[in-house]
Amino acid sequence: AKREGRNNFQFYEISPEQAQQHDVLLKTRLRHAEGNGELRVFYQPQVDAASEDIVGMEALVRWEHPELGPISPGVFIPLAEETGLIVSLGAWVLRTACRQAREWEDKYGLGLRLGVNLSAVQLMEPDLLDTVSAALAESGLDPRLLELEVTESISIKAVPNLVENLHGLHRLGCRIAIDDFGTGAASLDYLRKLPADRIKIDQSFVRNIGIDPDDEAIVRATIDMAHRLKRGVVAEGVEIEQHLKFLRANHCDELQGYLFCRPLPHPSFDRLLAERQRL
Ligand code: C2E
Ligand code: CA
Ligand code: CA
Ligand code: CA
Repeated sequence: AKREGRNNFQFYEISPEQAQQHDVLLKTRLRHAEGNGELRVFYQPQVDAASEDIVGMEALVRWEHPELGPISPGVFIPLAEETGLIVSLGAWVLRTACRQAREWEDKYGLGLRLGVNLSAVQLMEPDLLDTVSAALAESGLDPRLLELEVTESISIKAVPNLVENLHGLHRLGCRIAIDDFGTGAASLDYLRKLPADRIKIDQSFVRNIGIDPDDEAIVRATIDMAHRLKRGVVAEGVEIEQHLKFLRANHCDELQGYLFCRPLPHPSFDRLLAERQRL
């Protein structure tokens, strides 16, 4: 199943041996990606569902290798996790995105929230809290503007200090969002045990709005449940007007998706903020 999302392979037949060799090659190259300046952070806006104002952004890492071309995070993040490289890569994303968010805060003062993804491997690290506080101190970003996204595919049991680390992040003043909500094996357990401020409805549900009444019911129930638990709710993968209408009618707080904007490199995101400001 892991092979599925690997765009490099889907158009021609390759053997498992070749695929494995390719992974080994990528892992070797990935080791030098940060030092060689091959990594970038893109930003995708999150908008208020009612007003469509930009209220935040998610930082999404990009890797462009000079010979291999752009490699999707769906491919290299799992490799970075297997090799442990995710720890330094994740810290780099955090520092870069916090610095950028602080710059935008100084320039536009919009109080935009910055979402940064944390992998299970990072959440197991004993010095996670030091890494996050260093990124905040270095950038001068208000901790209340930083939201760490924790994917629901992480098993609470497999990451012993997960709950503790999340409480630690709260003490720093940061917020926590549960990413990919509804796709894990224990969504409700997650809600009950983790100190989360918001949940992000996975795009696999949003995609089926207007198609599958069961998924529509799940989306409605998730929004309702989030609100009853005094949590905010964001829908991801909002691609068409019909998604927007449904989510708005059902009081989803915030939306993220191609309907509004694709992830953008920082100069383009900066232009977007400048234009919005002039309106
Ligand atoms: P994610 O955290 O669930 O991020 C959302 C993904 O959905 C992003 O893919 C984004 O580009 C894509 N997306 C946004 N709007 C739409 C839409 O309307 N339709 C569709 N079909 N897709 C949309 P991306 O950037 O390729 O990232 C894939 C995954 O890689 C992320 O999923 C996240 O799990 C991981 N990832 C990306 N950056 C980082 C990072 O800095 N650290 C860690 N640990 N993981 C990251
Ligand atoms: Ca995310
Ligand atoms: Ca997600
Ligand atoms: Ca996802």
